[in-house]
Amino acid sequence: MSYVKEAFDKVKLRDPEQPEFHQAVWEVLETLEPVFESHPEFKDAKILERLTEPERIITFRVPWVDDKGQVQVNRGMRVEFNSAIGPYKGGLRFHPSVNLGIIKFLGFEQILKNALTTRPIGGGKGGSDFDPKGKSDMEVMRFCQSFMNELFRHIGANVDVPAGDIGVGGREIGYMFGQYKKLTRKWEGVLTGKGYGWGGSLIRPEATGYGQVYFLREMLASKGDSIEGKKCAISGSGNVAQYCAKKVLSYGGKVITMSDSGGYIFDKDGIDEDKLAWIMDLKNNRRGRIKEYVSEYTGAVYHEGKRPWGENCDIALPSATQNEIEEKGAKNLVKNGCLAISEGANMPTSPAAYGILSKAGILFGPAKAANAGGVAVSALEMSQNAAFDEWTSEKVDSKLDKIMTGIHQQCSDAAEEYNQKGDLVVGANIAGFIKVANAMMSQGVV
Ligand code: NDP
Repeated sequence: MSYVKEAFDKVKLRDPEQPEFHQAVWEVLETLEPVFESHPEFKDAKILERLTEPERIITFRVPWVDDKGQVQVNRGMRVEFNSAIGPYKGGLRFHPSVNLGIIKFLGFEQILKNALTTRPIGGGKGGSDFDPKGKSDMEVMRFCQSFMNELFRHIGANVDVPAGDIGVGGREIGYMFGQYKKLTRKWEGVLTGKGYGWGGSLIRPEATGYGQVYFLREMLASKGDSIEGKKCAISGSGNVAQYCAKKVLSYGGKVITMSDSGGYIFDKDGIDEDKLAWIMDLKNNRRGRIKEYVSEYTGAVYHEGKRPWGENCDIALPSATQNEIEEKGAKNLVKNGCLAISEGANMPTSPAAYGILSKAGILFGPAKAANAGGVAVSALEMSQNAAFDEWTSEKVDSKLDKIMTGIHQQCSDAAEEYNQKGDLVVGANIAGFIKVANAMMSQGVV
């Protein structure tokens, strides 16, 4: 049996109830076979067994009191996965579906993604099964404070630096940062995604979506094509989706769909800047549902309980959640002549769907490369905090653009070096893995 298969079987045996983690691990391991042929020393050092086992997992009780005076109890967790190239870095997700397998899949992806950014950051992820939807601001604040009452002892500006993810935006980061400061008496860059004016970096809210589109631009440019005039189907209407849409518009693309967990809207005339501003206000301030869009813009149609991949589009930008493009969606995308996919969400394409898309030769930007812009700017926020400095948005955006262009180049080069020219999935996995594996080799068995 091959080394990668052996290592994967051990992962499954150890935690059989974590399907998302198995999926994320296998998607990487199955592409690494050629690396072990040229680097047998990685096998002797049991790099895969070590890479797939988190350095530390913390789980804890999060009790809080709701507006009716009732006690509520959630579970909090932080997976400190790998610190070979820097302090643990990765977001916190607040969503009822959160469990250890999901946080481990996200943390594992984060290790290689962070390596691709070329910044000195390790991989981690955390979260809770708390659902911020429908909660008052005060309930969210009490939850965040209770969450931080335990998390604070495990994190620090040079130890572990969480950020946002699904259900965790500027509001939640603010409440958690406030509590961290109160408990430790330290003002330090312990969380990223902070508000502008109190340590937050300009362009951090935009970074993941902008970066996703910069990566798309590079993929298309490698084929002599561009975003201008392309019909783009976007899923999600949260942080990533909003800024993905904004950047697509700035390159002259046409945004035809957005969604939330209730369904998606299709606007044949395109979601322009004004309509996008309306959606951003709906989602970020009024905290409403995407279906309300069709009452405001009556030419649009709402599809309850569906995903947008059946629409005729040139480009698909999945920006909501894991496994949101399944076999049927992939077949529709191929049938309708989709040219390229750039993943904003983490692991949004199921393995079966990816098989269909890759067979059809669709340009494919995998999440760990295409959505690395968020964590890259988080690392820039850490640099600014450490130096008590603040950079202009032009400076941050231009660094982000360079980083994303560089990531595309690294993925292309690694794919070519390992005889799989143009396969950015293989390229991203190999380029990220080699960097982490080399660092682990240098640091001994720890
Ligand atoms: P938000 O919470 O801001 O938005 C999430 C969006 O996805 C919402 O529209 C939400 O709808 C929708 N969504 C969530 N779960 C589901 C589901 N099960 N089915 C359908 N739609 C769903 O999160 P982000 O925009 O920050 O994150 C989106 C994705 O991007 C995630 O996969 C995240 O891991 C990834 N990502 C985020 C980064 C960041 O910087 N924020 C960085 C890198 C990756 P609803 O409101 O109805 O729940």
